[in-house]
Amino acid sequence: MAQVLLVEDDAAIRASLTRALRDHGHVVSSVGSGMPALTAAVENRPDVVLLDLGLPDVDGADVLSMLRAVSEVPVIVATARDEESEMVRLLDIGADDYVIKPFTAAQLNARIRAVLRRGGKSDEDPVITVGGLRIDTRSYEVTVDGRPVELARKEFELLLALARRAGEVVTKRDLLGEVWQLAWGGSDRTVDVHLSWLRRKLGESAQSPRYLHSVRGVGIRLTAPADDADEPASRTGG
Ligand code: CA
Repeated sequence: MAQVLLVEDDAAIRASLTRALRDHGHVVSSVGSGMPALTAAVENRPDVVLLDLGLPDVDGADVLSMLRAVSEVPVIVATARDEESEMVRLLDIGADDYVIKPFTAAQLNARIRAVLRRGGKSDEDPVITVGGLRIDTRSYEVTVDGRPVELARKEFELLLALARRAGEVVTKRDLLGEVWQLAWGGSDRTVDVHLSWLRRKLGESAQSPRYLHSVRGVGIRLTAPADDADEPASRTGG
């Protein structure tokens, strides 16, 4: 997966994140303060840096500025909730994304994959298939059982985010972060509306889902239809 450099002064958080990221298949190195982070970023050439803002030696924002002067490595900033107002400034000075503490390893992993994709460093297969659904991430072409489906940009990104984690329930919060870059704020309604458009274009509905299953109070799961052996009349009719 990715070489991750973890910059975090809290030893317990560092240990648990290291373990969790390794479980996700990443190669993890870590440092506990800002100056060693700059050295490690240059010497180890990580694919992505997770930078805690509250460091003992140098302010995280200053580390970010210095890092930007020497490296183009994607940086995900980890911030406490009361530092949210800082985020615009941090994004301006070169952060690629951020996570708000406390965050889960799954959230962080999704952010890591997102920044790697944006940087074109993903080694993921450019074509994702789930049952009869086929998504070409290079040409943005989607087909269902060979039939082309025209999607708007956000519909495509929503479908892709779900298909990349096929079989998993993805929360609306995660989708708002991943598809709309709204890690805080944003409304579930945004996801619901796009999901409804997406369903219509895929030829299904919330009442009779094929690929897109709402899991009440949790999120959405994309799976291959169990009925694919049959020939559903609802799909061929009309
Ligand atoms: Ca800290």
